[in-house]
Amino acid sequence: MNTISFLRAATCVVLCHVSMLAYALDPLSYARYDQVKTSDLHLDLKADFAKKTLSGHAVLSLEWIDKSARTLDLDTRELAISKIEALGANGSWTSVPFTLDKADQEKGQALHITLASQPAKVRVFYRTAPTASALQWLNPVQTMSGKRPFMFSQSQSIDARSWVPVQDTPAVRFTYSARIDAPQGLRVVMSADNDPKATGKGGWRFKMPQAIPSYLLAISIGEMDFRALGARSGVYAEPKRIKAAAWEFADTEKMITAAESLYGPYRWGRYDMLVLPPSFPYGGMENPRLTFLTPTMIAGDRSLVDLIAHELAHSWSGNLVTNATWKHFWLNEGFTTYVTTRIIESLYGVEEGEMNLQIEQEEAIAMLATVPPAKQALMNRNPDTSSADYADEGLVYPKGAWLLRTLEQRAGRAVFDPFLRGWFDQHAMQSVTSEQFVDYLRKNLLAQHPQVMGDAELEEWLYAPGIPASAVRVKSARLAALDATLTAWLGGSLPTAKLDTKAWKAIEWIKFMNGIDGKATAAQLKELDEAFSLATTSNNEVAFRFYRAAINAGYRDIRAPLKAFLLNVGRQRMVLPLYANLLKQADDKAWGAAVYKQARMRYHPATQKGVDKKMAEK
Ligand SMILES: [Zn+2]
Repeated sequence: MNTISFLRAATCVVLCHVSMLAYALDPLSYARYDQVKTSDLHLDLKADFAKKTLSGHAVLSLEWIDKSARTLDLDTRELAISKIEALGANGSWTSVPFTLDKADQEKGQALHITLASQPAKVRVFYRTAPTASALQWLNPVQTMSGKRPFMFSQSQSIDARSWVPVQDTPAVRFTYSARIDAPQGLRVVMSADNDPKATGKGGWRFKMPQAIPSYLLAISIGEMDFRALGARSGVYAEPKRIKAAAWEFADTEKMITAAESLYGPYRWGRYDMLVLPPSFPYGGMENPRLTFLTPTMIAGDRSLVDLIAHELAHSWSGNLVTNATWKHFWLNEGFTTYVTTRIIESLYGVEEGEMNLQIEQEEAIAMLATVPPAKQALMNRNPDTSSADYADEGLVYPKGAWLLRTLEQRAGRAVFDPFLRGWFDQHAMQSVTSEQFVDYLRKNLLAQHPQVMGDAELEEWLYAPGIPASAVRVKSARLAALDATLTAWLGGSLPTAKLDTKAWKAIEWIKFMNGIDGKATAAQLKELDEAFSLATTSNNEVAFRFYRAAINAGYRDIRAPLKAFLLNVGRQRMVLPLYANLLKQADDKAWGAAVYKQARMRYHPATQKGVDKKMAEK
């Protein structure tokens, strides 16, 4: 792929100069957005649960940049395209020729539309495949009521193309609207202006007036109820889960207010959440106006609501200021991880914030043992031509956050907070690169406060593997006390019966589980399980870590609850390590493979892909 410099369209709001920016086109997209950009999308689709398809048409409004261009290249994956039309100057639609390239495993199929002129709009008639990588069609048995089917999308990173023919790159932003037909009795929601009072008569209608990149296109259809949480926030969930969800998310409005006081107004209107059935492959997905969430975060004690803080934080880092290509992923996730801790701290206090941060940093250090050094850097200098060069998707979260935390601690919050708010304000509704951030950092923080970080250290943070030796590790006093308990229990001087866990928060259990993993014996884990029923705890973060430690210790009494967990939870971050650990144990390998055989069809295609890969490695 070539590196092409081009005129960025003059859509910037704050820095309103047309600036020359040289960067590569997104290698994960076939779109030539240096020639033409989508400015608006309209979807008119019908959902067919029997066939597991969406079918209808998409209208793309186009903004032509290169006056000589006569081709529109879109990204698709497994779309059956029947007809494409262009809008003529006289207002009538005419069929235009198109070709589809051979499918590429990673990128899908390029769609080339040949045009005689530069039409304002192009209309694509198509149908999705039942195997569309972004869509999961659940049978009624996979829902709580067991009565009606359910469907949801997950477009990030490059799967929007499996349900919409689109310029599928975070470098292009567009507004959208939609009309969706769905079976009676099912509700349709999207990453747009959901109206809790809508009935869907004559089709469900949506409008998204803010320009978003394609990976934030989202849809879900199913039996769902709505509960308001505040004037501008609420939750959708399966009817049987709505009460628990509304209780768990009670602090949402306070979180929005806390984030606003740090980084300026919430710009997306409503902030609603949708709790999905358990096969949702991620913890949460920051679809604008409607965060999608795993039900595994409903612990019954509000102990895992940092996940909401994380998805809400994306309303600034990611959705408002977006990584220009996936190479710059840390700009979305590292920043969001940093902002999450700030929201947690302002709601629940410094101690809570520090405990979270310490665990995050410990898990980052632990990750270094398994992530290849070439993937440990936030950034690399290779031209952006292949995703094989990109940083590890897990590590950039805590490592990116750690860099921002370091800058914040050294500059002081009085300096750093307005600096970060300025980054969001000045790049709002834009797609940005790491180089742009480094530029902004030098001009707006390091030029005035050179003692904060020198060139060599900044270089190390961005381009070197590992965590710089200069990085300060957070030490929570409360967790330090737990260390002594942990060591004494592991060594046998503190019997399980004397473990005083009454005042422990979930984060302390998480720390304890991390600390005993690979060290505790099967007998110790059995004792712990009998005393605290850990194998059946409703806190899935604790359960996941307990199972992991149990597998590694060869404690096999947990097989029944572990199997239930693997059959019911499709969240990749939990499922992948559990299978990986089962495969490592000679006596668990066959059992793990058998469980997966049964569980596979319940998982989202993204999770299937991940576990398939692990199974093939062994
Ligand atoms: Zn995130």
